[in-house]
Amino acid sequence: MSQPDTEVRPSNFIRNIIDEDLATGKHQSVHTRFPPEPNGYLHIGHAKSICLNFGIAKDYQGKCNLRFDDTNPVKEDIEYVESIKKDVEWLGFEWDGDVRYSSDYFDALYGYAVELINKGLAYVDELSPDEIREYRGTLTAPGKPSPYRDRSVEENLALFEKMRDGGFEEGKACLRAKIDMASSFIVMRDPVLYRIKFAHHHQTGDKWCIYPMYDFTHCISDAIEDITHSICTLEFQDNRRLYDWVLDNITIASRPRQYEFSRLNLEYTMMSKRKLNQLVTDKHVSGWDDPRMPTISGLRRRGYTPAAVREFCKRIGVTKMENTVEMGMLEACIRDDLNSNAPRAMAVLDPIKLVLENYPEGEVEMLTISNHPSDESMGNREVPFSRELYIEAEDFREEANKKFKRLVTGKKVRLRGAYVVTAERCDKDENGNVTTVYCSVDRDTLGVDPADGVKPKGVIHWVSAEHALDAEVRLYDRLFTIANPNVGELEETLNPESLTVIAAKVEPALAHAEVEKAYQFERMGYFCADNKDSAADKLVFNRTVGLRDSWAKISD
Ligand code: ATP
Ligand code: MG
Repeated sequence: MSQPDTEVRPSNFIRNIIDEDLATGKHQSVHTRFPPEPNGYLHIGHAKSICLNFGIAKDYQGKCNLRFDDTNPVKEDIEYVESIKKDVEWLGFEWDGDVRYSSDYFDALYGYAVELINKGLAYVDELSPDEIREYRGTLTAPGKPSPYRDRSVEENLALFEKMRDGGFEEGKACLRAKIDMASSFIVMRDPVLYRIKFAHHHQTGDKWCIYPMYDFTHCISDAIEDITHSICTLEFQDNRRLYDWVLDNITIASRPRQYEFSRLNLEYTMMSKRKLNQLVTDKHVSGWDDPRMPTISGLRRRGYTPAAVREFCKRIGVTKMENTVEMGMLEACIRDDLNSNAPRAMAVLDPIKLVLENYPEGEVEMLTISNHPSDESMGNREVPFSRELYIEAEDFREEANKKFKRLVTGKKVRLRGAYVVTAERCDKDENGNVTTVYCSVDRDTLGVDPADGVKPKGVIHWVSAEHALDAEVRLYDRLFTIANPNVGELEETLNPESLTVIAAKVEPALAHAEVEKAYQFERMGYFCADNKDSAADKLVFNRTVGLRDSWAKISD
């Protein structure tokens, strides 16, 4: 028997509509779809749509299709198709049956276009794209009819065939719906249904030189797939008129309905594939999966978990209200997850030497240190300890007030999982920076307080100098300097310090760190091995997130 599902299900206006449709018998089951255009990698905004569509299918024992909305071959690529499939699976969702493509329906769509022509509801226009725009009118002025609007059905059928057969150059003809040039909804002013593009298509090859427009394709694809609830973002609200008009005027059994919700906007980043593509093409980032990108592949590379992304989508909810979510909210989700689930390790990001003068040279002890302070099931590991260690430069001061609970000359500190040491003196370089701290170690303090009753105030992390591994550590900051980078020039709003690369010393167990799997580097944050650049002989770690919300401070 399966476990009872105790997870609290989200409630939102779309689920309320579904509940009602099921209660009234309008639908017996729910069928949704996620319809990405393969013109870029998916971003966290798409994750919101994925969690909504696949989440509904899962909770209502329904189905969710993955359908590539591939009607613009010029901008699309098979690389994007593959990355999108991988991202949906990584998020933990399974689509119903095979992957679908709108291009699977090109023959059917052509047939429906012919049906509209036969009904006098579509015509071949030979105005240029500029003229079409001009004739369309504005929000305040009605459009005016194209001189080609009243062609006969026979003429339109012949011209549409000519379009399909390559008889027109690009931009010289298009098929338009014949609706209402004076409609208060501009999308209803004889929208274009088909345009000519002599472009090779990643699925259909060179079979077609005419491609259907989104508004014509989407509703029909939904109907062909028996989608019940077609969920999209608010900018398609007006297009719903056209969605319904097409389905009302063709012969098709199924009748899906479109519902709109507000898209996710996230501070200090952007959600448009076109702009993200520009960041990649202009080499402001290393690729679509650069850990600074708001893409799903970027988040994965950064050390985010599918559970944290899903939790974020749950916390932001689904409404019709436009808003912008703080980055701190996304970070809180990964921090909560990793605090419970990430094993601990020690890494020194800004190393200085610590020499234990009364510890025998050549001696090495293997100390057993737990992998998680409150989860015993995560077990222990052996960490080598020796006379020479590395500690963080910021953990030592020659003098300090009581607030500084780390190592100070003449004072004690505990080395995490090891002994209490007392700082005696230090060496400095010509710039006055401390290079080495000389200490004495009290070897009766492993797991117990010092016999003299003077407890050290603080605990610092360390690695054994001889055993430590070199690692490149990449510290990421926000990609943009302003909360809404959608306004303004890209070059001027990019944060020049969004990536800092440092040379760190890490404990030897990290040689086997699995890529994309974050560790808590004690006291320093969460880090994971980079899935592209990290190798056994050249470790590279990405900072997933700090231990505390650094964004809160910035906005103070
Ligand atoms: P972009 O503007 O980033 O290219 P898009 O809407 O053109 O986005 P699609 O590939 O068409 O990208 O999107 C697939 C689905 O994801 C659509 O249903 C779309 O509404 C949804 N979606 C896209 N961006 C967001 C977002 N920021 N928040 C929520 N859903 C989104
Ligand atoms: Mg789109």
